[in-house]
Amino acid sequence: MTQVLELHEDVRKWQRKILNGYWIVVLISLVAEIVALFIKMKLSPEVVQHFLLHTMAIPSGLQIALVTTNELLERYYKKPRPYTIILTGILIGAVLIYGNKTLIGMQYVMMIPMLTAAFHFTKKHLTFAYLMLFPVLATMYVLYPKIWDYMTIYERFALFFILSGEYLILVQLLHRGKDMMERLIRSSRSERDLLIKNTIMERLSKTDALTDLYNHKTFHEYLDHMIEQFETNKMPLQIAVLDIDNFKSINDTYGHAVGDIILKRVAGISRQSLTSDEIIARYGGEEFAIIFPAKNLEQALDLCEYTRKSIWQLNHPEMEDRRVTVSIGLSEYVQGMGKSRFFSITDSLLYQAKKTGKNKTVYPV
Ligand code: GH3
Ligand code: MG
Ligand code: MG
Repeated sequence: MTQVLELHEDVRKWQRKILNGYWIVVLISLVAEIVALFIKMKLSPEVVQHFLLHTMAIPSGLQIALVTTNELLERYYKKPRPYTIILTGILIGAVLIYGNKTLIGMQYVMMIPMLTAAFHFTKKHLTFAYLMLFPVLATMYVLYPKIWDYMTIYERFALFFILSGEYLILVQLLHRGKDMMERLIRSSRSERDLLIKNTIMERLSKTDALTDLYNHKTFHEYLDHMIEQFETNKMPLQIAVLDIDNFKSINDTYGHAVGDIILKRVAGISRQSLTSDEIIARYGGEEFAIIFPAKNLEQALDLCEYTRKSIWQLNHPEMEDRRVTVSIGLSEYVQGMGKSRFFSITDSLLYQAKKTGKNKTVYPV
C-alpha cells in the first residue's frame, strides 16, 4: 500500500515537471512567433494580420488552454493521469503543426510525446503515445490538406518510419531498463540477506544461547581490548567474577530445567542492574564476569553490591521462593599486571567470598 502511494507520489512529481516542460514549450513558441512577427512586419506587412491570428493568437491560445486545463486537473484530481499528460503533449504538437503548416520538420515534434511516455511512464503508455499520433496527424491532414500537400512522398514515408523507428527503439530501451532494474533489485536483496545472515551469525558466535549474555570467548576479546586501552590511556578498569552460591544443590533439588530458569533469571537481573557501559558475560556454567571500563573501584563496588542485592530479592516460584545468592570477587587493573594475573587475582577474591560465608562481594582493601 505505501509502495503504491510512493509510486503515485513519484509519478505526480514527474507529472509536475512535465507540465513545467509544456509551459516552457508554449513560451518558447510564443517568443519564436514574436520574432517571426517582426520579420513579417518588415518583409511582408500584407500577411501580418493573418499571421497574428493563425500563427500567434489561435495556436498560443489553444496551447495555453491545454496546459491550463492540465493545471486544473493537477490541482483537483490528485491521482496520476499519464494518458491525459501524453495526450496533452500530442495536442500541443498538433497545435504547433497548425501554426506552421508548411514547415516540414515541424511534424517531428511528435517524437517528443513518445520520449516523455518512455522516460516517465511505462511501455503501455509509450504504445498509447505511438498509436495516438496517427489519428491526430491524419485528422490534421484532413482538416488542413495543405500540410499533406507540402510534403513529398519521401517525406511522408520518412515521417512514418522515423516515428515508428523511434517507438521500437524506445521499447527496447524500456526492456533493457527493466532488466537492469530487476537485476539491481535482485542483487541488493541478496546483499541485504547476506548482511542479515552475517549479523545473526556474528551475534550467535558472540553470545551464550541460554542467557543471551556475551560468551567466554567474547569476554576475553573485550578484556584484551580494554587492557590495551588501559595501558595507553590509563583509564581505570575493573573486573568482577560472580558465581551463584550452592547452585549444584538447586540442580539436585529441583532439576536441571529449573536450574536453567534460575540461570536465565540471574543473568537477566544482573544485566539490568548494571549500566550500559559494563560488559557482562556468562563466563562458565553458573559463573558470570563483568568488565567495568568507565568506573572507579568504589562505583564498581556499588554496582556489584546493587547487583548482588537485586539477585537476592528475586522470587523463584519454581523453588518455593527459596532465595538465590551470589558471591562476587572484584578487583582493579594495575599497570603491567597482564590479563591472566588480573583474572586470577579476581578469582581468588571470589574464592575468599565463598570461604567466608558467600552472598558477598570481596574486593582489595
Ligand atoms: P558454590 O557455592 O561453591 O559455587 O557451589 P556450587 O554448587 O554453585 O558450585 P559447583 O561448582 O559445585 O556446582 C556448579 C553446578 O552448576 C554444577 C553444574 O551441574 C551446574 N551447571 C553448570 N552449567 C549449568 C547449566 O547450564 N544449567 C544447569 N542447570 N546447571 C549447570
Ligand atoms: Mg557456584
Ligand atoms: Mg562455579
